[in-house]
Amino acid sequence: MSELKDVKGIGPKSLMLLNKIGINTINDLVTHYPFRYVFLERTDIRNAENDSHVIIDGKVESVPILMRFKAGLNKMNFRLVTMYGVVGVSIFNRAFMKKDLAIGSTITVIGKFDKQKNVITASEIKFESLSGKVKIEPVYHLTSGLSNKNMNTFINMTLLEFGREITDYIPDTYQKKYDFVNKRMALNIVNNPPSKEKLDLAIKRLKYEELFVFMFKINYLKRERKSKNVGIEKKFDRAKVDKFIDSLSFNLTGDQKKAVNDILSDMESPHKMNRLLQGDVGSGKTIVSFIAMYANFLAGYQSALMAPTEILAVQHYNNLKELLGSSLEIALLTGSMTKKEKEEVYKGLENGEVNVVIGTHALIQEEVKYNNLGLVITDEQHRFGVNQRGNLRNKGVKPDILYMSATPIPRTYALAIYGDMDTSIIKEKPSGRKKIKTYVKKKSEIKDVLSMMLEELKKGHQIYVIAPLIDGEAELTSVNDLKDQMNLAFGKYFNIDVVHGKMASKAKDLIMAEFKQGKINILISTTVIEVGVDVPNATTMVIFDADRFGLSTLHQLRGRVGRGADESLCILISDSDTKRLEIMEKEDDGFKISEEDFKMRGHGDLFGTKQSGDMEFKIASLKDDYDLLISAKKDTEEYLEDKTFDPLKIKLLSELNNNS
Ligand code: ADP
Ligand code: MG
Repeated sequence: MSELKDVKGIGPKSLMLLNKIGINTINDLVTHYPFRYVFLERTDIRNAENDSHVIIDGKVESVPILMRFKAGLNKMNFRLVTMYGVVGVSIFNRAFMKKDLAIGSTITVIGKFDKQKNVITASEIKFESLSGKVKIEPVYHLTSGLSNKNMNTFINMTLLEFGREITDYIPDTYQKKYDFVNKRMALNIVNNPPSKEKLDLAIKRLKYEELFVFMFKINYLKRERKSKNVGIEKKFDRAKVDKFIDSLSFNLTGDQKKAVNDILSDMESPHKMNRLLQGDVGSGKTIVSFIAMYANFLAGYQSALMAPTEILAVQHYNNLKELLGSSLEIALLTGSMTKKEKEEVYKGLENGEVNVVIGTHALIQEEVKYNNLGLVITDEQHRFGVNQRGNLRNKGVKPDILYMSATPIPRTYALAIYGDMDTSIIKEKPSGRKKIKTYVKKKSEIKDVLSMMLEELKKGHQIYVIAPLIDGEAELTSVNDLKDQMNLAFGKYFNIDVVHGKMASKAKDLIMAEFKQGKINILISTTVIEVGVDVPNATTMVIFDADRFGLSTLHQLRGRVGRGADESLCILISDSDTKRLEIMEKEDDGFKISEEDFKMRGHGDLFGTKQSGDMEFKIASLKDDYDLLISAKKDTEEYLEDKTFDPLKIKLLSELNNNS
């Protein structure tokens, strides 16, 4: 495949600017779709109102008269012949255009119309006519140094020179079925729209293509699973499982008991379990998964639990060790462990000494071989991509699978994405939980916030303080800003520390451990602590620039407090978007919050798309293109069913296997 630097017109400087906005390949460039269009419609100036905004094309009729003023300012006047008659044009500070405004040249003028004088004061002159009645201009996301015009030219050059190399993922049958133009044509149209109708069709076609590839993956994995849906009929002593449950320091809630029962029955059945355990933050999913792993151990099989962050993996590891460390061999496997440490774990997994392994993505690396993997659990399922799920599953011959997620997904979407998965839902919260008092505060009310924090600190409680970034950016609060601010306010009497994603894992773990032990009073962090972390003595969550986060993320963050017997609070600091944030003051049901968020922001936050790359669409949207998604779902099912040889199918399959 050719590279960006091979495109005529893209020099080193442009290349650097393109890289800066994430455009690194030819494919990135041609799928850098315009995010909106400007529709320029020719104004009939005979009927235009005084002072109105007009767009008109025509030919220059008189040599522009240039006037120069003080301070380098200038003005040009000339006459323009349009299809609606002659009009005067004035334009300020474009003396440099004079040579291009020769008599007879065709231009389009955009500006304000003075009806009395019959003069347009132009804000913009383009050296082209308005072909047809409407001109549609694409608008791209840019960076300084790159103009819309540059971007458009780069894309057009690329399509011209290398259009042939761009893969068209829609099989011919479906191109015909929907009467779609081919990919190259569609790309050409979205960047140079000849008409609204053609543009809409081209966009639809590109959206469909994206959804087709997406559903191809999903359906392929689903078929794989179905075809192999022979599981292990596990035998274990339920009395022993009950004994373990009785040994816990609390009673399971009704929903937890039901979930445990669903899971144990699946494990005992000859079919492979494929279950989603859904439950709001703090509903107690972890213990359910531990019980499942214990039963799996009693049946004589290994379990693997995959968490999206190291912090969470370590926490699960420590908790499980405390509960079952004396009867099970439990190992931790994370990316930051040394090669030697990892190899130790690989060995234990391969020879069967390790009964349970808990870890991050490290669990799905090539090197990991299991002796007899019988149960695979992923925590915070929505954080993982479809491919990664597939991978861990493939590690065991026919292990049972349990997905856990705190993010409720509206039914329709769940159907498209998870298909025939079984679900257990934990609605009931463990008893004694109080509603977390939530307040939205302005930045100017920081004094209030600090005094609320002080009250909690005095009671011996701990506090989380969250910022959207680690460092820099003037208009946003960063972790480093907060460090200074908190030290100034509380540093004299309280311990303050920081944890964020860029720190080495060892350092992160140490700080989390200290926070758990109560040695740190205020923990400043980014959203790395978003998922799963459990410290009952932490009663306060303060989130700066809260408008930067989706409500589901805020709900997850808020779920870090309110885990003990004491009343907890959550303070959201923001000067904008307060209407949306106020939903948090009233609502504490994660499902309702996520629906509200979904209505306001689309699917982005709902699925945690940043973490699961395969949910990131460049042009399609699960929210707006549901009908297309359903078509793509049906079509890909049919396509997979069809056994005719097709190089495109081979390509899709090989990409599916390489992408993870
Ligand atoms: P999540 O569903 O968000 O993963 P966790 O599993 O982390 O929630 O549980 C949150 C907290 O609730 C943990 O401290 C856990 O020990 C506790 N917990 C779980 N189930 C119960 C219960 N039935 N009664 C009391 N506390 C419970
Ligand atoms: Mg959890």
